[in-house]
Amino acid sequence: MISLTELKTLLAAPQKIVITTHHKPDGDAMGSSLGLYAFLIQKGHHVSVITPTDYPDFLQWLPNNSDVIVYTESEDRAVQLVNEADLIFCCDFNTLSRINELGEHIRAASGLKLMIDHHLEPEDFDDYRHWNINACAAAQLVYDFIKNELQEGELINKDVATCLYTGIMTDSGSFRFPSATSAVYRIAADLIDLGAEHWRIHQLVYDNASENRLRFLGHCLSNKLEIIRDFNTAIITVTAEELKSFHIATGDTEGVVNYALSINGIKLAAFIVDRTEKVKLSLRSTGDFPANEICKKYFDGGGHRNAAGGSSSLNLEETVAKFKSILPEYKTQLLQ
Ligand code: 5GP
Ligand code: MN
Repeated sequence: MISLTELKTLLAAPQKIVITTHHKPDGDAMGSSLGLYAFLIQKGHHVSVITPTDYPDFLQWLPNNSDVIVYTESEDRAVQLVNEADLIFCCDFNTLSRINELGEHIRAASGLKLMIDHHLEPEDFDDYRHWNINACAAAQLVYDFIKNELQEGELINKDVATCLYTGIMTDSGSFRFPSATSAVYRIAADLIDLGAEHWRIHQLVYDNASENRLRFLGHCLSNKLEIIRDFNTAIITVTAEELKSFHIATGDTEGVVNYALSINGIKLAAFIVDRTEKVKLSLRSTGDFPANEICKKYFDGGGHRNAAGGSSSLNLEETVAKFKSILPEYKTQLLQ
């Protein structure tokens, strides 16, 4: 591990820096990474943002989006940048398996690894850690890192503020999860003062759906939603054929699970989708119910208490059956 003083000394001179984030980046992954990017480029560093995979269209308006390198599209260039980097920032993830093949390149790279994250149980691969599971978003930790650790809040310009606001907004469910504390609202107010146009960000992220996405959502709610009142659980299952027939692109399925959770009395919602190579599960829960425990114990995954994910190598039908077979174990908590 290096100290904050050592890190500050390093950042005082131009460095080659890579910023990376998790597989299928969401609003917080891109917001924290591009927010950190917009900060670091002002200090004269040579900075690259590398994502392991592509990400949704509704995030592609973020400031400096055109500078992002997608590993699966530019593998050689990404590996070269990782190998040459002095510093590698890892935003919004804490195990290298969350970034697929890119993780092994980062593990082998000689640059210092700096983790900025809010997930449970970090893997020990980093040289500096700004980690807090109580943060509502990695973007909140980037804000804290710049303002309080580095004490360079004056470099939070409009681009930085816009990216960080986006990360905080998306990971806090638009400021409504318990993690959206009064301190988070104060940070949001500060970011608005620094140039984040909250109304525009909201519109660009949430009112920017493709027609396919909306029709797919309608199909899921009308035809694919199963409510199991005995366990206050709702499940939406989607086949690979349905993904194809609705021309589903990256990001089009995001948030569908929240509609299942919005039903009166539902404590646990699952969105289970056949991604061909694997079946993916997205779980959401209310209150104290530990969705991440189910993902970790049974589906090779993890996440936060109220928003978690995992995968299964069984087929779709078998995965759904497995999920249902787990519910009795949690009956008391689900019926509380
Ligand atoms: P989503 O359901 O939106 O894909 O993921 C919700 C949250 O669950 C993510 O923010 C992430 O923390 C976690 N998550 C999703 N998929 C996985 C996975 O495969 N492994 C782990 N460890 N966490 C996951
Ligand atoms: Mn996050």
